[in-house]
Amino acid sequence: MSRFAAVRFSHFLPSLLLLLGGFLLARLAALNEFFTSLFNVLPTLLLLLGGSFCLVYGRQREVFLLLTLYLGYFLLDAQVDHFRAVGQVRSDAALIFHLCSLLLPLLYSLYAAWLERTHLLQDLIARAAVLLALGAVAVGMAQRFPEALLHWLSRVRWPVLQVEWLALVQLAYPLFLLGLIVLVVQYLRAPRPLHAAQLVGLCGLLWMLPNTFILPNALNVMSSQIMLILVAAVAHEAYQMAFRDELTGLPGRRALNERLQRLGRNYVIAMADVDHFKKFNDTHGHDVGDQVLRLVASQLSKIGGGGKAYRYGGEEFTLVFPGKTLEECLPHLEVIRQAIETYRIQLRDKQQRPQNDEQGRARRAGSAAQQVSVTVSMGVAERGLQQRSPEEVLKAADQALYNAKSAGRNCVRSYGQRRGAVKQDVSAPKIAR
Ligand code: GH3
Ligand code: MG
Ligand code: MG
Repeated sequence: MSRFAAVRFSHFLPSLLLLLGGFLLARLAALNEFFTSLFNVLPTLLLLLGGSFCLVYGRQREVFLLLTLYLGYFLLDAQVDHFRAVGQVRSDAALIFHLCSLLLPLLYSLYAAWLERTHLLQDLIARAAVLLALGAVAVGMAQRFPEALLHWLSRVRWPVLQVEWLALVQLAYPLFLLGLIVLVVQYLRAPRPLHAAQLVGLCGLLWMLPNTFILPNALNVMSSQIMLILVAAVAHEAYQMAFRDELTGLPGRRALNERLQRLGRNYVIAMADVDHFKKFNDTHGHDVGDQVLRLVASQLSKIGGGGKAYRYGGEEFTLVFPGKTLEECLPHLEVIRQAIETYRIQLRDKQQRPQNDEQGRARRAGSAAQQVSVTVSMGVAERGLQQRSPEEVLKAADQALYNAKSAGRNCVRSYGQRRGAVKQDVSAPKIAR
């Protein structure tokens, strides 16, 4: 399966909603007292709570992203407060603002792209050293040569970029562009909620900086929202780790257990098990086995009739149909069983891969491309007088699955169904050439 198949809009959704919320709130001319106080404390609160949460769980990247955002917020907030109180900017405002415009995208992108190393302490020290070194150089230069630094920062290097809507110093834009490219590539290489959030956060920063002195709430609202985006993404990933099965992407056993506690009075549970999977693994190797499990899971996730698929464990899956009867579910299970049976899996053996396209075409046209297929057996049971709890229904479905295996595999059996004539076992791993 290609990595692009793992790209999900749901990775971006919470971050985009938070960004949109920040964007709308920041555009309001005046916030009421409650929101004003909230956004005045939120950045500090998020740094303390989110930062310690991330630190405890070894998420150094987010700790330093939060710290970078907070430092930027802290420096600029003093300027904005002064501007609001006195009606004009402080004498060092331009220098501080331009330095922030440069250092924020630089540090943010650097920390976002910098993957955590195994040695957490070393990682922490290395990140802190970068922050200290850059900070010390910036402060040192700003104190010793303020005029020269301001002149260097605000020099027009590319006259074509001298347009009204590009309000930051010109040097900031290549940094933002580079950061955006790096974070897009990072997300495409490893599509996960955190990488999506980091990307959305950088867009928020790009919008916030030019509006710092224009919209009165842009700085505190957007800083809060970007920090919230990052903390929410860490929580999102923790939830996924606990409830999603990493190999197949289906909800895992923990999610199933939760769901079983919330079923109403009528429901159906089916257990599906890949036939002769041990033999399949022995023949084709564990990696191909994993690939097949993903494909079976993807077929099962398409189950109709309001059913939902979970990975129970190993090569076993559970399908839950809330509010349904056995008769309503059986046709859907049969459709999926047949879909899996007829699905031909093209083996992607790296060692056997053709050297060039021509060889590949010849091989596909000829008989060398190896295709395999697997089958599944299913057992299904519904809640009834004998099986009243979800655990009992699951056990009954498991019993029915056992019957399906004895009946020759590659079939669906319901609990209590009379055992049909044992058919010939046709489901041993097939190799079609
Ligand atoms: P049956 O038709 O009776 O179900 O036979 P089976 O070989 O499928 O059943 P058995 O329980 O003996 O073997 C299950 C195999 O599934 C054993 C194990 O190697 C394999 N398996 C379990 N989890 C994974 C996994 O995550 N990846 C891979 N590749 N194989 C797995
Ligand atoms: Mg099994
Ligand atoms: Mg099996």
